Amino acid sequence: MKAKIHKELLATSALAMLLTLLFSMLAFYGIFKEQVFADLRADAMLLKSMHVFEKPETLCPDSYELEPDKLRITVIAAEGAVLFDTNAAAGSMESHEDRPEVREAFLQGEGSKSRRSKTLDKKLFYYAVDLGNGSVLRISREARSFLAVALDLLPMAVAAVLLLLPVCLVFASYFTKSLMRPIEQMAETLSEPDAAVVYKEFVPFMTTIRRQHEDILKNAALRQEFTANVSHELKTPLTAISGYAQLIEHGMAGEENIARFAGEIHKNSKRLLSLINDILQLSRLDEKNQEPDYTAVDLYRLSEDCLCQLEMVARRQGVTIRLSGKSAVIRADRHLMEELLYNLCDNAIRYNNQGGLVKVTVSETAGQVCLSVQDSGIGIPKEHQMRVFERFYRVDKSRSRATGGTGLGLAIVKHIAAQHGAEVFLESEEGKGTEIRVVFYRK
Ligand code: ATP
Ligand code: MG
Repeated sequence: MKAKIHKELLATSALAMLLTLLFSMLAFYGIFKEQVFADLRADAMLLKSMHVFEKPETLCPDSYELEPDKLRITVIAAEGAVLFDTNAAAGSMESHEDRPEVREAFLQGEGSKSRRSKTLDKKLFYYAVDLGNGSVLRISREARSFLAVALDLLPMAVAAVLLLLPVCLVFASYFTKSLMRPIEQMAETLSEPDAAVVYKEFVPFMTTIRRQHEDILKNAALRQEFTANVSHELKTPLTAISGYAQLIEHGMAGEENIARFAGEIHKNSKRLLSLINDILQLSRLDEKNQEPDYTAVDLYRLSEDCLCQLEMVARRQGVTIRLSGKSAVIRADRHLMEELLYNLCDNAIRYNNQGGLVKVTVSETAGQVCLSVQDSGIGIPKEHQMRVFERFYRVDKSRSRATGGTGLGLAIVKHIAAQHGAEVFLESEEGKGTEIRVVFYRK
């Protein structure tokens, strides 16, 4: 970027220099031309005031020792006939009536014109003045053309450019540095949210970068916390399994306890398995590039299947399940929907009371489909309601652990819902029950 700015500054100054040179040469040539005409006019006026050319027939062209190609004097009669010329025999010359300067002089008293000569790098300047006796006196001289003048000035122009070039180089590098300094400072103060941004064009850019920077830091902290939580959660069942296995191994269990210890080992390994499944599920959901496999899914049919699976668990807990509503098809990933339903119904049964009720309702209104899972269970105290969707968050650790919970279910629900553009609403009252609604919007 620095090199580019530097290069462009140099190019701009080079262009400015060239244009300045060109324009000053044009201006110079304009002044030069004006001077030539002014000289010619002064000469013509002088010659007119001397009344020498009023009677051309008395003049002898050869008696004027004018430098050839420098100054030429011609006298032209009203019809255009050349009466006198210093450079040629007047008689043999064609009519000069159509010469613009001559015509102008006849009409307005004086006239001027410049013409390019065939030799190209020379230009002819004409000045004509009415002598007042029906004839016009015209004088002309050669002068250098613009190209010739420009070529003459070229060495000076080159010298000026060579002299200015180092100055431009120094300024360009100074301006580049002063332009870049605030940007470099910005890069250094990336993590300081209050550091001022000098260029207002960079404010949106910096805001985005700083936000991303914060996000990265936050994500790193979350990941670290997650890893710590996972290790801790894995440790508990593994310690139990290893403890019971050790007791059996050393014959310290006693015949009567073997079955109980095996049961504990079984329970804890199941917990480990479900924990690992949940973690795998979450990390799969976290993978941004893993696109869900959207198909038409009937939420009502899916709820039926899910409740069928949980039937046994519910009966063991003395909980009744009821499904109501009607068929509602949404575009969703079937596998993820099963997971969402299972987690919600599993909670509704697990955190319920003996003889409790779980009501699953699938309803549809204009543009949205609502899945509601309602229970008459223990409820969630107000202060925990915001946090139950966090990973590993459990209201009552001892009860949740006793029922094999790891605090990942609702985090998964929230994740899946977000992926489907759905919203999750929680309503709960301690001791009365909980309702979780997932609202899907039709696109
Ligand atoms: P798992 O990962 O096996 O689902 P979990 O059930 O403990 O474990 P979540 O489903 O995320 O984890 O629930 C988090 C916490 O929210 C639970 O530990 C429980 O305290 C509370 N909770 C969730 N659903 C209900 C409910 N229907 N009634 C009362 N409390 C609930
Ligand atoms: Mg759960």
